[in-house]
Amino acid sequence: MTISAEKRLAAHKRIVFKIGSALLVDRKSGLKSDWLNSIADDVAMLRAAGHEVLIVSSGAIALGRGLLGLKSGALKLEESQAAAAAGQIGLSRAYHDALGGHGIRAAQILLTLGDTEERRRYLNARATIETLLKLGAVPIINENDTVATSEIRYGDNDRLAARVATMMTCDLLILLSDIDGLYTAPPALDPDATFIAEVEAITPEIEAMAGDAGTELSRGGMVTKIEAGKIATAGGTTMVITSGKRLHPVRAIAEGGRATWFKASGSPVTSRKKWIAGQLSTSGRLHLDAGAERALLSGKSLLPAGIRQVSGMFNRGDVVSLVNAAGIEIGRGLVAYDSNQAQAICGLKSAEIEARLGFAGRSEMVHRDDLALRPGEGHGDGPGDNTGGETDKR
Ligand code: GLU
Repeated sequence: MTISAEKRLAAHKRIVFKIGSALLVDRKSGLKSDWLNSIADDVAMLRAAGHEVLIVSSGAIALGRGLLGLKSGALKLEESQAAAAAGQIGLSRAYHDALGGHGIRAAQILLTLGDTEERRRYLNARATIETLLKLGAVPIINENDTVATSEIRYGDNDRLAARVATMMTCDLLILLSDIDGLYTAPPALDPDATFIAEVEAITPEIEAMAGDAGTELSRGGMVTKIEAGKIATAGGTTMVITSGKRLHPVRAIAEGGRATWFKASGSPVTSRKKWIAGQLSTSGRLHLDAGAERALLSGKSLLPAGIRQVSGMFNRGDVVSLVNAAGIEIGRGLVAYDSNQAQAICGLKSAEIEARLGFAGRSEMVHRDDLALRPGEGHGDGPGDNTGGETDKR
């Protein structure tokens, strides 16, 4: 039995949209407010149905070039950075106004490549976005184009959106595109190309359908979308490509509009935990007392109070091994402190951390989202399995 598109969409709790410049900005008239308002309606519809929504939006450069009177055609790096700086203000304002019309708060996040690729910064970006979602805001995310240089850029927001999706354990990534899905060949080049509704796995055959990376269709085209799909689906996020060239494009998916679905391998939370558990080497060990072991097994985070001893040298964001009083490794996790800081605060209550370190750090040594218990220990890895006393649902 095939499930309806509406039910399928409804099954994904945390959803990220990727919105491209061409959908949002018209070269002559600037921002397409009607279209953006229809996106705000779609966000409001999803939120009313209990979804969490994040938006990765391009458009800063396209908006800014008009505002600064830059000529059409290729821009120099510093010109596109200047355009991004001028355009981003307008872009944020537009989301603020459009979502504000539904009583929804928009919050701007600008990321550089290092924010998702370097583990110590990754924890910061993740904690901030997580907090925004908990507070009911919609994060509006873009690359921080003003300072990124070509070597340290994502370059396209398809990939940025996929990295955000895995970092935030999103269940679904919706790429709003100028094309309504994947075809057996680029339809602009091949009139016999046929539409593909479902992609079970991104095989070399599927990659070949996107066309050649060397064509002018590649940048931000199907090749980067398939790249994004590889990142997203390996991280447990389902991906959908659909046309954004209509109003209410997300509602259109629910109503059965044409879209290609790329199946995720596993759930985002289990993929993340598998990645943590699968690290070959760990940088240090945290020796837990019996109370902390029990807390972990019941799905809670590891607090400094439950740590008897810290061994090894590690940095914030490294994978450490968690060892119980009998010396057995019960799990692994991404640690929120450097080893010298962890030494200084082990055994302390969370409220005492600031006085000892001189700054307000995280109250958890290893957050439960960053924790993978060994198979057979404690609760399962599913999002609903964390029944600890904290407010985090994931
Ligand atoms: N970050 C760029 C912008 O806001 C867009 C990059 C892309 O379109 O992929 O203009």
